[in-house]
Amino acid sequence: MDAEAVGKAARLIHQAKRIVVFTGAGISTESGIPDFRSPGGIWSQYDQDDLTYQKFLSHEKYRRLYWQYDRARYPAMKNARPNAAHHAVVELEQSGRLSALITQNIDGLHQDAGSSPSIVHELHGTVREVGCLECKARWPREEITDTMDREGIEVPYCAVCGGPLKCATIAFGQALPADVLEAGFRHARNCDVFLTVGSSLVVQPAALLPYEAKRAGARLVLVNLSGTPYDEIMDIIVRGKAAATMAAIMDTFRSL
Ligand code: NAD
Repeated sequence: MDAEAVGKAARLIHQAKRIVVFTGAGISTESGIPDFRSPGGIWSQYDQDDLTYQKFLSHEKYRRLYWQYDRARYPAMKNARPNAAHHAVVELEQSGRLSALITQNIDGLHQDAGSSPSIVHELHGTVREVGCLECKARWPREEITDTMDREGIEVPYCAVCGGPLKCATIAFGQALPADVLEAGFRHARNCDVFLTVGSSLVVQPAALLPYEAKRAGARLVLVNLSGTPYDEIMDIIVRGKAAATMAAIMDTFRSL
């Protein structure tokens, strides 16, 4: 780990008044949830093109495939516990500096770690609920999947209106919730430090958030294992695993 970069990141965070933390799948890999793009990640097992929103709407066979994929990835999320990086974000909130926590993750681990639900903006939804695409009714996930198991249902439909049910996450090709996206961009424009943790920064429009923050004058910090298309606009990059790196940044932060 680059100790100099850790020290610089800690000092920047210490001086900041309004920090936005932006997280991706990489913050949760050490909790046992595979990311999409690392070797062995989810896209090495499924074809992304078969799991688009348009395909889901188009045919029962794609809805069946979607639910197989969804149910295959869920146990890792259900059993996961927050790691030191999630806890570091909670500590930042407790220091009074965190104005928003914007996450691409659907696993709910930030809330499990103790981040206040009011500051967490889930850009890509949550795996913990299932929603009807027509009447918008929502259920806790386990309620639907328990019924699927009990009754041998492969593709669930809404008990209220008969519309297709889908996990309350955003599929490829599905629009992001406008209010959450708008809040994300607003916070990005109004922060003094924008800290990205564990994201390849390739999924749009979420990946534009650091760029938006930079344009508005924020300093950018990136904690990630691999390179991203936005590395050149970062002020500080700490190349390393999220848990150990965020713990090291907070150790230095506490000593300032
Ligand atoms: P991604 O898979 O595209 O990128 C993850 C990044 O994290 C990679 O650059 C990788 O090098 C880095 N990384 C992996 N392990 C790391 C670690 N221990 N420490 C630091 N960095 C690490 O993920 P993304 O950018 O979030 O975007 C893809 C989409 O993945 C999002 O839309 C998100 O909804 C979805 N997703 C979420 C989860 C989850 O909720 N945990 C899991 C898989 C995918």
